[in-house]
Amino acid sequence: MAVKIILLPGDGIGPEIVGPAVEVLDAVAPGELEFEQHVFGGACIDAHGTPLTDETLDACRGSDAILLAAVGGPKWDTTDPGRPRPEQGLLALRRGLGLFANLRPVRPVPALYDASPLKRELIERTDLVVVRELTGGIYFGAKTRTHDEASDTCVYTRAEIERIARVAFGAARSRVTSVDKANVLETSRLWREVVHELHGAEFPNVELEHLLVDNAAMRLIAAPRHFDVILTENMFGDILSDEAAMLTGSIGMLPSASLAGGGSAGEPRGVGEPPTPGVFEPVHGSAPDIAGTGAANPLAMLLSAAMMLRHGLAMEAQAAAIESAVDRALAEGLRTPDLGGGASTAEATQAVLQHL
Ligand code: NAD
Repeated sequence: MAVKIILLPGDGIGPEIVGPAVEVLDAVAPGELEFEQHVFGGACIDAHGTPLTDETLDACRGSDAILLAAVGGPKWDTTDPGRPRPEQGLLALRRGLGLFANLRPVRPVPALYDASPLKRELIERTDLVVVRELTGGIYFGAKTRTHDEASDTCVYTRAEIERIARVAFGAARSRVTSVDKANVLETSRLWREVVHELHGAEFPNVELEHLLVDNAAMRLIAAPRHFDVILTENMFGDILSDEAAMLTGSIGMLPSASLAGGGSAGEPRGVGEPPTPGVFEPVHGSAPDIAGTGAANPLAMLLSAAMMLRHGLAMEAQAAAIESAVDRALAEGLRTPDLGGGASTAEATQAVLQHL
């Protein structure tokens, strides 16, 4: 039976970069993947009055993986809390599928070292992944507000920490750096204790270090090569993953995965049930400023498709084929306008296809 993939093109440049992803996926896995497209985000608000319909969420639940481009745009910007916003679709999708693990690899491409604001000798050979807890912590705890006082509650349970730590150890080649604020926060002290215990019990062969978040923020810029896997809670991960993203230079290059487990080796939903499908998407938004001009860089989308093959579908060889085709196309000089060149979306896609 073919592997079923839900495509959520969304808005802006989204539909322009989903087509290239399907072309490349069909080229690496001919006849193996079946695609089903659904409106999502602003386009879905226009069609159905909500950014994510129950029917689409059900289709996602019944699929093997979800490939999402980007949502949002000026047409749907509103400060009226009563009106739907495209971004609510993203949160509803993550919550609806229980996607507690966000993986963001940061691997500057040699051909683009000079596109980073950091010195070449600092970022050379950096190859790290931020594993961020996505559905707990201070973003989801109880909140209070009076005229003069406000509070946000940060709560983590042992089970929440264990499951995200397991994803991080599973993704590590050599070392997990667990980032917390254990000198101040009680949740961080529990975090450190649970990560330490899990390491001893299940992953003694992976090196584990603990860093305070302020120190981690400095070292990420001063010595990014030091890191292999950075494991951290929701808010620290939000901030550190954007900091890490700047190592690569262009936002048009960065993929991400949101998972309900360790991907293809992830947590089953119940006896006899398949793992929950993951959502794979570029880090960038819908780029309304260049939508419709044919100038969108499709590489983050293609690299997200590669992450889907690796983490969602256990198709490692095909994932690696896409990544090395992207590397070789860049090495041969492929540059879209965001990278200082003139290649269109279609030309960039052709360059990658030629190197597959
Ligand atoms: P953005 O990422 O869409 O764009 C930032 C800048 O980067 C723009 O100049 C854009 O042209 C450029 N850019 C982004 N992706 C590119 C690509 N693939 N190729 C070439 N250039 C690219 O961020 P923004 O402008 O802050 O937000 C625009 C809209 O996207 C907003 O509605 C925002 O809410 C939404 N957004 C969505 C997501 C998502 O869907 N996950 C993420 C971020 C922002």
